[in-house]
Amino acid sequence: MVNGYQPVSLQEALNIKAEHRVTIYGGGTDLMVGKDKPDTYLFVNLIPEMKNIIEDQDYIRIGAAATFTEVLENSLTSQILKDAISLIAAPAIRNLGTMGGNIGNGSAKADSVLIHYAADAKLRLASVRGERIVNIDAFYLGRKKLDLAEDELIVEILLPKNGLDNYYYQKVGGRKALAISKVAFVGIFGMEGDRISKLSIAFGAVADTVLRFKEIEAIMIGKTLEEAKAQKQVFLDAYEKAIVPISGRVSSEYRKETCLNLLNDFLQQNHI
Ligand SMILES: Cc1cc2nc3c(=O)[nH]c(=O)nc-3n(C[C@H](O)[C@H](O)[C@H](O)COP(=O)(O)OP(=O)(O)OC[C@H]3O[C@@H](n4cnc5c(N)ncnc54)[C@H](O)[C@@H]3O)c2cc1C
Repeated sequence: MVNGYQPVSLQEALNIKAEHRVTIYGGGTDLMVGKDKPDTYLFVNLIPEMKNIIEDQDYIRIGAAATFTEVLENSLTSQILKDAISLIAAPAIRNLGTMGGNIGNGSAKADSVLIHYAADAKLRLASVRGERIVNIDAFYLGRKKLDLAEDELIVEILLPKNGLDNYYYQKVGGRKALAISKVAFVGIFGMEGDRISKLSIAFGAVADTVLRFKEIEAIMIGKTLEEAKAQKQVFLDAYEKAIVPISGRVSSEYRKETCLNLLNDFLQQNHI
C-alpha cells in the first residue's frame, strides 16, 4: 500500500513538503526498487507547472514531473537530449520515469544528467521560502549529495536552446536495451569563424558525480583548428590526469581508457 499526498498545484505541494515528512515521488522507478521504502510520498504528477514543457527566449523549460516519453515526444526537445533519453531503460520505464527523478536520484549514471552538465542546464528549485535557480554542476555536491533542502522540490530544468546541435554522444553499456551506463560521454563543439567558440565535455558513470573540467576545455577555446591540433596532446594529458574513475562493476582502468578513447573520437570528428 502506497500512502501519500497528491497536490494539484505547486503551492499546495510546497506547503505539504514544508509541513510533513514526505518523499517526492516522480515515477517511482528508482524509489520502488530501493531497499528502504519511505512511509509517505508526495506525488507530483498532477502539478501542471511540473508537467509542462515550454520555451522562453533562451531555454526549453522542462517540468521535473515530465516523463521521459513525454520529453521524447515533445517537438521542443533538442536532439541531444532525445538521443540520451531514448537509450534509457525500455519503454515501460520511460513511460513512468521522470526528468526530476533522474536528477533527484543523485546518480552519476543518470543519462539525462550527463546532457544537462554539457549543456550548462540550470534547475529551478522551489520551497515555501521562495525560489532559486542553480547550475546543474553546483547542484551535485558528491555521491548522492544534492544541494536540495528538506522542504525544496525540483520544479523545472532549464536547458539552453542554442549551441547544442554539433555533439558527439555515446553510452557504453552491457547491451542494447535496459543497460545502465558503464561509461557515458558527451561532447559539444562550436566554431565562430575559424576559431573554437564552444567545447564542453562531460563524462558519466565514471565518478561520484558526472565529471566536467571547464579549466581543461578552456585550453581549446579561441584556438583555430590548427592551433588546437598542436595542443591536442597537452589537452589529452590534462584529461588523463583529471579523470580519476571509481571501480565497481566496471574497473577504473576500463573506465579511464574508454573515456579517453571517446574523447579522442569526439576531437577527431571535429578535425582535431
Ligand atoms: C529497470 C530499470 C532500468 C533503468 N535504466 C536507466 C537508464 O538506462 N538510465 C538512467 O538514467 N536511469 C535508469 N533507471 C533509473 C530510473 O528509471 C531513472 O533514474 C528515473 O529518471 C527515475 O525517475 P522517477 O520519476 O521514477 O524517480 P523516483 O523513483 O520517483 O524518484 C527518484 C528520486 O528522486 C527524487 N525526486 C523525484 N522527483 C523529484 C523532484 N521533482 N524534486 C526533487 N526530488 C525528486 C525522489 O524523492 C527520489 O529520491 C532505470 C531504472 C530501472 C528500474
